[in-house]
Amino acid sequence: MTSMSSSTRPLLNRRLAEFGTTIFAEMSALAVTTGAINLGQGFPDTDGPEEVREAAVRALRDGRGNQYPPGPGVPELRAAVAEHQFRRYGLSYDPDTEVLVTAGATEAIAAALLGLLEPGDEVVALEPYYDSYAACIAMAGGTRVPVTLRPHEGAFRLDLDELRDAVTDRTRLLLLNTPHNPTGTVLSREELAAIAELAVERDLLVVTDEVYEHLVFDGAEHIPLATFPGMRERTVSISSAGKTFSFTGWKVGWVTAAPALLTAVRTAKQYLTYVASGPFQYAVAEALALPESYFTAYRADMEAKRDLLAAGLAEAGFGVHRPTGTYFVTTDIRPLGERDGIAFCRSLPERAGVVAVPNAVFYDHREAGAPFVRFAFCKRTPVLEEAVRRLKTLAG
Ligand SMILES: *Cc1c(COP(=O)(O)O)cnc(C)c1O
Repeated sequence: MTSMSSSTRPLLNRRLAEFGTTIFAEMSALAVTTGAINLGQGFPDTDGPEEVREAAVRALRDGRGNQYPPGPGVPELRAAVAEHQFRRYGLSYDPDTEVLVTAGATEAIAAALLGLLEPGDEVVALEPYYDSYAACIAMAGGTRVPVTLRPHEGAFRLDLDELRDAVTDRTRLLLLNTPHNPTGTVLSREELAAIAELAVERDLLVVTDEVYEHLVFDGAEHIPLATFPGMRERTVSISSAGKTFSFTGWKVGWVTAAPALLTAVRTAKQYLTYVASGPFQYAVAEALALPESYFTAYRADMEAKRDLLAAGLAEAGFGVHRPTGTYFVTTDIRPLGERDGIAFCRSLPERAGVVAVPNAVFYDHREAGAPFVRFAFCKRTPVLEEAVRRLKTLAG
């Protein structure tokens, strides 16, 4: 018999010791036990286009993707990704050497960090972070260096001087998310140009998480960092079908990058899932080729939902940071006489029958995020209306 580990040594290793279960599990469980409306986790409550679903069914029936697809992804999807990047952004990528299909953006982020970082490398990322970033940086042995987005005139903004100061001789990589979850901030052309200049000057790699590229509102524009001078050869661009086509369960994501970078990401990726989502890859290839009217209508629908929820939250007494992109509205609970978002979110299902997520869990500087709470608006209009009606009881 082999002995179990000694009682003094924790089973969970040191790299992951700080990561418990995600807040989403706790909040979704609360939603179930209280019957509250779940505006916590960011998934749509209606599925994406019928013809895309049918394309997946057809692939399954025709025996396409039921066995291991090619490691880099099926050629149809790699071609569709390259075509999308060119048509939309003028970025030209070779589907054979510069496109990689992954198990969602989540695996792409993990593989990029695992493939590109040495232990001790510093990664500068915008705080609040998407929840997998900190854990993936830790698994790769990196050190995260947060640059905090701060509220300014109704939106969360990046302080470019703070970003410059965060870069040291140990910085290997910037991990950038725009449109940004959870704040809804979309970095402007000027901000992106300054980030690009910094990356070139300090010889940094950049990993960009662009999963909300099609969800930008108020006429704003999503501009991939890879389009700026000197950036194509140092940027790993990541996106995914989940948010763009409302199929978050399919887990089809992709990476575009110059060959040497893509090889590093692929090397890590092939030992994570190797491949995933075979038949769905064919369906997503068709989705990416949908006419422009799909993307326009989807954006308009989500913008209307943003407006509905943002207005309702303001009427309910929240401070509202109006998002320019994504699925989410970040609110400030201080106008309600509250200051601790975590306690507030734990009590909200009982008090108002709604579940939200405290932004503090996405910060290293918890106090900077304490008064902010995130609500998702990727839900059916009647669901949002009922949530707003319930939240208005808070104003008393
Ligand atoms: C949802 C989300 C992801 C994960 O995308 P998947 O394709 O579902 O893995 C990554 N980054 C951000 C910012 C997200 O909101």
